Amino acid sequence: MNYNMLVKNMPICYDLHSHSYYSDGDLSPSDLVLRAAAKGVDVLALTDHDTTDGIAEAMIAASKSGIILIPGIEISVTWQNTLLHIVGLRIDPDNKMLQAGLEGVQKTRQERAEKIAQRFKKIGLPDAYQAVLEYAGGDIISRNHFARYLIEKGFAKDHKSAFKRYLLKGKPCYVAADWAELKDAIDWIRAAGGQAVIAHPARYQLSNAKLKALFENFSLLGGEVIEVVSSAHSPTEVTKVARLANECGLLASSGSDFHSPKAVWAELGKIRALPEGSSPVWKNWNLPSTQNQTSYCSG
Ligand code: AMP
Ligand code: MN
Ligand code: MN
Ligand code: MN
Repeated sequence: MNYNMLVKNMPICYDLHSHSYYSDGDLSPSDLVLRAAAKGVDVLALTDHDTTDGIAEAMIAASKSGIILIPGIEISVTWQNTLLHIVGLRIDPDNKMLQAGLEGVQKTRQERAEKIAQRFKKIGLPDAYQAVLEYAGGDIISRNHFARYLIEKGFAKDHKSAFKRYLLKGKPCYVAADWAELKDAIDWIRAAGGQAVIAHPARYQLSNAKLKALFENFSLLGGEVIEVVSSAHSPTEVTKVARLANECGLLASSGSDFHSPKAVWAELGKIRALPEGSSPVWKNWNLPSTQNQTSYCSG
């Protein structure tokens, strides 16, 4: 690997949440890595939804461009009727227990996609399934692919309104699914040698008491990390989540949740620094050439 970009004692930029076209991102893993390098990211995690298929390509691209690539995942979980996203960092993508777990979640995804396509028939779009299959190109099918079809067919002006009018809970094309159990997702990640992270916790619209219960439950089950800084979090939410993570003795992570160059509000490397007092997840990672270095962010 080429770590020339990591000059000793220079602050380094960690972006520990991003997507490629193996899930619902727009870029190939190679283009994602190139863009991350151009945006000043030093350590990038690829965390596709429910699949690790992009990691091998991302690793090769990273070794060529001087970025350190952290193999990751973002697992869909149902916890007390709420859809949660649990990121895994530093996983071994070849781990059998992890892959067996992901296969189950991928099957749930597939069945949900077929049910969503039935809902599309009812709103006058009978060919949605074929279209999303093509968009996904044999990889996992996401609601983002259905959103793209709604826009293409003139049913929504943009991504956000496609979700708001059709794809969110309570809307005509929303289909509930039983995703992985929180305990199972954590177990798979740990079996694969990784650390489990609650992704963008402020996005779940939980009360303060319920958010605390989630953090405590997560910690008891072996979860270690909270994604404190995310493009989905306001500065007030960052402060609140950081405090709660500290109270529960959990480490802090930071990621853009990049999906596409078009989504300018979630750009690679454009993330705030962790609040003072947070304990960074990377503090004991001892990555080559990053010892004794602090983090910086451009955001
Ligand atoms: P899925 O995992 O297939 O249910 O799709 C969830 C993905 O849709 C998330 O990871 C986001 O990329 C995207 N998404 C979720 N909610 C919204 C929203 N309100 N507006 C735009 N995109 C959303
Ligand atoms: Mn997504
Ligand atoms: Mn997510
Ligand atoms: Mn994500």
